[in-house]
Amino acid sequence: MTELSRRGNHVPARTDWTYAPAPESRDVVSLRERYGLFVGGEWLDPGESYVTLSPATEEPLAEVGQATAAEVELAVSAAREAFTPWAKLAGSERAKYLFRIARLLQERSREFAVLESLNGGKPIKESRDVDIPLAAAHFFYYAGWADKLEYAFPNRQPRPLGVAGQIIPWNFPLLMLSWKIAPALAAGNTVVLKPAETTPLTALLFCDVVRQAELPPGVINIVTGDGRTGAALVDGEVDKIAFTGSTDVGKAIARRLAGTGKKVTLELGGKAANIVFEDAAIDQAVEGIVNGIYFNQGHVCCAGSRLFVQESVAEDVVDKLKRRMTTLRVGDPLDKNTDVGAINSKAQLEKIEELVAAGREEGAEIYQPPCVLPEKGYWFAPTVFTNVAQSYRIAQEEIFGPVLSVLTFRTPEEAVEKANNTPYGLSAGVWTEKGSRILWMAERLRAGVVWANTYNRFDPTSPFGGYKESGYGREGGLHGLAPYLNGES
Ligand code: NDP
Repeated sequence: MTELSRRGNHVPARTDWTYAPAPESRDVVSLRERYGLFVGGEWLDPGESYVTLSPATEEPLAEVGQATAAEVELAVSAAREAFTPWAKLAGSERAKYLFRIARLLQERSREFAVLESLNGGKPIKESRDVDIPLAAAHFFYYAGWADKLEYAFPNRQPRPLGVAGQIIPWNFPLLMLSWKIAPALAAGNTVVLKPAETTPLTALLFCDVVRQAELPPGVINIVTGDGRTGAALVDGEVDKIAFTGSTDVGKAIARRLAGTGKKVTLELGGKAANIVFEDAAIDQAVEGIVNGIYFNQGHVCCAGSRLFVQESVAEDVVDKLKRRMTTLRVGDPLDKNTDVGAINSKAQLEKIEELVAAGREEGAEIYQPPCVLPEKGYWFAPTVFTNVAQSYRIAQEEIFGPVLSVLTFRTPEEAVEKANNTPYGLSAGVWTEKGSRILWMAERLRAGVVWANTYNRFDPTSPFGGYKESGYGREGGLHGLAPYLNGES
């Protein structure tokens, strides 16, 4: 029974607000027992396979192919065969296919959202309200460019590159697929895409959409598997590799491709600074800090994982942040109330645990709000570290989990210097009421994206990408088309 309190003569008010579970139904998704590789518009039976799990429960979901080098080459050949007719098709015709895919994603959005949360562990409200709508938006946006390439790149005779090999990570499976496939197809390329080992299911469901849209066979090919499949694609007869993932694998790919003439774009890790000045709207900034680091369990390359607070307001901000953290609901990704879902895999959980242990050993102070974590599956409570020094591993390395390191500064110059003191350069956030200070900071922060008084905002029209060890090349906007066209990258 919920406790009620009586205030004077007013109506009794609840004193403990709790949420009843509001699980999204799984019925909308029908999983197959076994999936093949999608090659030339057909399902190819793979020689080897593995089981993909739900990270929230460790329940096996389906068996999927572990594509070998020979199978990858079949996919590349199918893409090669499809290339010339696809590239010769009028831009307005290519656009129709992309519009069709976008509309089908919208029509089937609930199915995609449930499957994304089931296979990846992210809260349903995020896959429903962020991942899937943005995926459709990317197809809509690039459909609009397909017949306007000559206007987009005037006097440069834009031509497609050929076959693009695309390798994506597990943090935004369908969204990363859209970031890669939509511009490539709009520019007239054909693709072979490899989803991450732990999250192949929405890419496989997407093959159904490709068929429904009656895309010519071979224009999109999907090969599942682990890093070996990715490496085979890098070595395959492709004209370009587009990669999103860790800096280590990105560097290995760059080394492998050096001197081959294949084009490459790399979207790698980050260790973003989220900077709060004393004149910022503090409550709003606290929401931005929470969104910056606990969105998608912190499995976000541009996550605001280093919080810099001006010394005069540091105590207030940290107190408010801790209070806000106690209201985060951690649990079943399919529950519509959940704010923080499951960690994507056992390996990722171990990596987070290792770095958090290092933070404790190095002397940082840890805070985790009280929360009961499910017994099965991979879970980590939202965490904040204070008393962090710049040299600590938790302030230097990408944790890729719900773990925030708080540091302080006194002057804007000091904030810039500390924020830029990282091998990465993907994103940053600035919280202040002064427009001039936003511009001053944005000019000096060495980051591909700088958000002001907001965080983790994405839009298909806006380029995204990094400096330094965060990679090179841009995705999104006109910039995202250029690396798929001859002479434009
Ligand atoms: P990886 O870089 O290993 O994975 C990204 C993609 O590359 C996956 O599809 C992966 O396959 C594939 N891959 C792995 N090895 C090779 C290879 N030698 N050649 C070609 N492709 C390969 O990232 P992880 O998934 O292992 O995550 C490790 C760390 O990377 C995280 O903790 C995080 O710090 C960072 N990361 C950054 C991301 C970003 O958006 N910038 C996204 C994901 C991770 P498979 O899935 O089978 O390994």
